[in-house]
Amino acid sequence: MNSGVEQPGVTAFPDATLVTKAVDQKVRRLQTARWAHNPEVGGSKAEADTICSFGSSTPRYSLSVRGDEMEKPLYMEDSYLREFEARVVSVTKGGENKFFVVLDRTAFYPNSGGQPHDTGKFLKDGVEYPVVYAGKFSGKISHEVSKEGLKEGDVVKGIIDWERRYVLMRMHTAAHVISEVFHKETGALITGNQLGLEHSRIDFSLEKFDREKISELFEKANEIVKKDLKVRSYFLPREEAMKIENITKLANVLPPNVKELRIVEIEGFDIQADGGTHVRSTKEIGEVKFLKAENKGKNNRRVYYTLSS
Ligand SMILES: [Zn+2]
Repeated sequence: MNSGVEQPGVTAFPDATLVTKAVDQKVRRLQTARWAHNPEVGGSKAEADTICSFGSSTPRYSLSVRGDEMEKPLYMEDSYLREFEARVVSVTKGGENKFFVVLDRTAFYPNSGGQPHDTGKFLKDGVEYPVVYAGKFSGKISHEVSKEGLKEGDVVKGIIDWERRYVLMRMHTAAHVISEVFHKETGALITGNQLGLEHSRIDFSLEKFDREKISELFEKANEIVKKDLKVRSYFLPREEAMKIENITKLANVLPPNVKELRIVEIEGFDIQADGGTHVRSTKEIGEVKFLKAENKGKNNRRVYYTLSS
């Protein structure tokens, strides 16, 4: 995944052949988007603590690799945390009504790994500061705030737009269920994914493109959802994580300095290294609905889904 860009902590891939060209392009697009959002913070040091391991021999979304300088983001410990207190570490002006705020801790999910960023607000002395975007730059989560007034040292209350986040949590856990069903039933691998509020999509490398079969797989996914399986997330030291079947294959795409992996486990069904936010049980997903499938070539069967409200 050498995109010709410095990626702190992710410069060396022992086996670059595992990472497909498609992934390369995806990462480049992500990085371009990040810089476009916030060129002032981060500069050429594009954040890469969410690396893709698509193209490995098991289906994967994204892998959380913690940077040394960053605390564990609060959403990784508790996806249900909607409010928190934090201290402002820095404020950078990015334009009219555009301020990039870094906190000492945050529950805001930054745009990464196919999961869109959180929105919400900061509160200080009864004044609201809307948070319109969150991204990762140089190992730090940066919040774009659309109102002037915050300064270094301020203590703020952060409030996540929960309606938006919760839909994305349900969409994300649904994506894990769907992709594992596809993988188990057909051996398909993920080549891309993008979660959304209205609908989400997953790209698979699928030998046969058959809408009826895809529809069937979605029925199977709903059977799993209905089982109300527990979803747990936790951190494991690298050596321990590598003992887990299927996760061991990640060793080939993990930078050597990664000491700890965040694991998301759907009890008895699926286990992945993952940096996203998830619901506590599959029942919270509701029902997954197959919307449409597009045939964009053997390595790119694009499947769209939504959830019952
Ligand atoms: Zn995921």
